[in-house]
Amino acid sequence: MTEIPQERRVVTAIPGPKSVELQARRLETVAAGVGSTLPVFTARAGGGIIEDVDGNRLIDLGSGIAVTSVGASAEAVVRRASAQLADFTHTCFMVTPYEGYVEVCEQLAELTPGDHAKKSALFNSGAEAVENAVKIARIHTKRTAVVVFDHGYHGRTNLTMALTAKNMPYKQGFGPFAPEVYRVPVAYGYRWPTGAENAGAEASAQAIDQINKQIGAENVAAIIIEPVLGEGGFIEPAKGFLPAIAQFAKDNGIVFVADEIQSGFCRTGQWFACEDEGIVPDLITTAKGIAGGLPLSAVTGRAEIMDSAHSGGLGGTYGGNPVACAGALGAIETMRELDLNGKARRIEEVMKGRLAEMQSKLDNGDIIGDIRGRGAMIAIELVKSGTKDPNPQAAADLAKACHAEGVLVLTCGTYGNVLRFLPPLVIGEDLLNEALDVIEQAFGRI
Ligand SMILES: *Cc1c(COP(=O)(O)O)cnc(C)c1O
Repeated sequence: MTEIPQERRVVTAIPGPKSVELQARRLETVAAGVGSTLPVFTARAGGGIIEDVDGNRLIDLGSGIAVTSVGASAEAVVRRASAQLADFTHTCFMVTPYEGYVEVCEQLAELTPGDHAKKSALFNSGAEAVENAVKIARIHTKRTAVVVFDHGYHGRTNLTMALTAKNMPYKQGFGPFAPEVYRVPVAYGYRWPTGAENAGAEASAQAIDQINKQIGAENVAAIIIEPVLGEGGFIEPAKGFLPAIAQFAKDNGIVFVADEIQSGFCRTGQWFACEDEGIVPDLITTAKGIAGGLPLSAVTGRAEIMDSAHSGGLGGTYGGNPVACAGALGAIETMRELDLNGKARRIEEVMKGRLAEMQSKLDNGDIIGDIRGRGAMIAIELVKSGTKDPNPQAAADLAKACHAEGVLVLTCGTYGNVLRFLPPLVIGEDLLNEALDVIEQAFGRI
């Protein structure tokens, strides 16, 4: 494991000369459709730091999009994955199986909500997990319709593009999309017309009414929702919304799928975000944080639903790759040993405290319309002063100012006006506070 000093260090312009050179090379052969938030080329990463090829050390508030919760070179992940690499890299679980896959499924059965019998199937990417959840729900219910929500994000494959709400950049020009996908309102408290306090009840009533009238509950195979919406802007559905939707699903024989690909594995201060309101999903999709940076995803759920698919109906050449499984076992070990749920809750306390202070004391603090999220999944929604009009320019300018000072932040949101913070859960508190100092100073520069 590379021990990287946990210190911010800016020794060149960001990006520096070596990154600029690599970026020029990249533009020659890497397809333009693959973008990068910050074209700083990575040399190594670990803890809360990304070190670039020019020797700059950036404070990481992105975790490679909520992936490296245990850090990008966590000891247990490196140790277990390295040992597995030396033993064998691949056999294909569908050809000759191996223990690591089974162990990951055992861990998933233990950690996911509910004490019913559970089974899992492993895949490579989040989108693949969501696609398979739909396959399983359809074969189980013998129905076809799938219900998703405004501001939802579920991936970039054809079916998951259809499930995703936002057109640019995810869908524009890439259609036609998979049929039998229906979108209904979500309880976005900050923007709910009659106020956040009414959003849970009103939005769930509207969503259920639309499902009944436009689709017919008896035609719905699955309802898929992120318990905290990620790309859509770190929207926590207002209290009462998720329980109402889950109950409706239960009453109508619909498979309730929690897409916890971004919110799962300690990110929100609980193993899974749906635990916050005591929701027990029928199926849960996981990826991102699951394996410390190695590509792995899963669908986990009620054994009788998971077993609806015939033998050979689920799988894939690399699904549940042994090295990725070893990485997952190392990541889960780290989460338990370092109490990363507790760490995430502490990150929330520190970040929300500092961000609220900025909102009240900075001259332009009123452009922070909303501070929200849970655990280490925190965001600020930026608006034009004195209004709720989205202010994507402020989000872009703040991100740019932070990047220049060596703090990596990401933006998101349907309106592009949300600055989101996803630090590795192992980040030191000093480093986190230093990043917040830089964010605070950035407000003075825009
Ligand atoms: C990232 C994400 C996906 C897609 O995962 P990939 O690994 O990029 O395919 C799906 N759902 C949610 C909630 C996500 O955040």
